[in-house]
Amino acid sequence: MRGWSRPKSPSACPFCDCRWLWRNRRYRRTVQTLEGPRSFWVRQWKCAECGRTCADRIPGAEKGARYALEVKRKAVRTLFDSEQDVAHTIREMRRNRGWSPSASTVRRALGQAASEIRAPKPPSSGILLSDEKYVRIAGRKRPVLILRDTHQVVRAAEVIPNRSPEAIEEVMEPVQRWTQAHTLVTDDMKSYRVVARDLRLRHQMCQFHLLRAVNRRLHRYLGRKRWGMSREDREREKQKIRDMFRSFCRARGRRQQAAWVRAIARLPRRHPPLARFVAHFLRTWPVYHTFRRVRGCPKTNNGSEGGIARLEKHLARLRGFRSQERANGFLLLWALHWNYRPMETGPHRGKCPLELARLDVKGQDWMDCTGLTE
Ligand SMILES: [Zn+2]
Repeated sequence: MRGWSRPKSPSACPFCDCRWLWRNRRYRRTVQTLEGPRSFWVRQWKCAECGRTCADRIPGAEKGARYALEVKRKAVRTLFDSEQDVAHTIREMRRNRGWSPSASTVRRALGQAASEIRAPKPPSSGILLSDEKYVRIAGRKRPVLILRDTHQVVRAAEVIPNRSPEAIEEVMEPVQRWTQAHTLVTDDMKSYRVVARDLRLRHQMCQFHLLRAVNRRLHRYLGRKRWGMSREDREREKQKIRDMFRSFCRARGRRQQAAWVRAIARLPRRHPPLARFVAHFLRTWPVYHTFRRVRGCPKTNNGSEGGIARLEKHLARLRGFRSQERANGFLLLWALHWNYRPMETGPHRGKCPLELARLDVKGQDWMDCTGLTE
């Protein structure tokens, strides 16, 4: 059968390294491979020095394992490629092979894969983009912090206890140290302003999030009927205010910027309900234009491929984890898989994030960076 060779006898005792081994007995061992069950005659050896026993090794299967490594690898690969759950992985394998490992075997394979990650570290762009997603752990919703760089390489994906600056810094600080990041691109969550200040990072707040916040505010304020305002008036005002913020985002140069900021500052005179929102904007607006002073810094923290958003769906399909360790193990594997996965759309189609970061990964398999290797 393809790739399956005879069991290999040990060259020395695994306990005391003595090379004098007696043959003790012989037994049958069955291993589930991708082609179905396969039986081997295995010799057991007894050490002349320490008296303990050891056995022949079956290449492609670990000591005492019922399933060959290739089965476990296939299960983990199917789970991440399909972005579905364990039940789907089992169905998929059964459909293709006529049999499949059990759910607990797939879960154990995931744990084993996550137990040892040797992730490649490509050169850094110095710019970190931050994102938050959510995961259920033991029934409770918990935030996940995702840090990637401008090449889309995920540098960290970890469950954090809450969205406080301290919790974010704990994950971000070591990443900043080894990527030597100088700039941070984030959404408009308040904690990030503190984080950027504490870690001495330049801060770019996402323009897309600003415009979304404006739209939400306007929907709440001008979406409903108001005295003295017809439906057409409301729509016109909405459009006008939206365009002001859009023009602020697109402004080139300080004079244009300042002009739009002044115009926005006058808004509450005609629209008092917007006063608080505008006051907050006036305190933060320079942070939306940091990208002009930092080369390569994006205006938004949107993934150019929009792929990070898929993590949230995958997490939802898995319906949560029993513990934080399991969730973090999954996230480590997800990040590794992501970094090796070729983009499906966009200008970099066919290239994976690691390649975009100029790391040669041709012919490499992400699974070889996990604990599921011989
Ligand atoms: Zn020994």
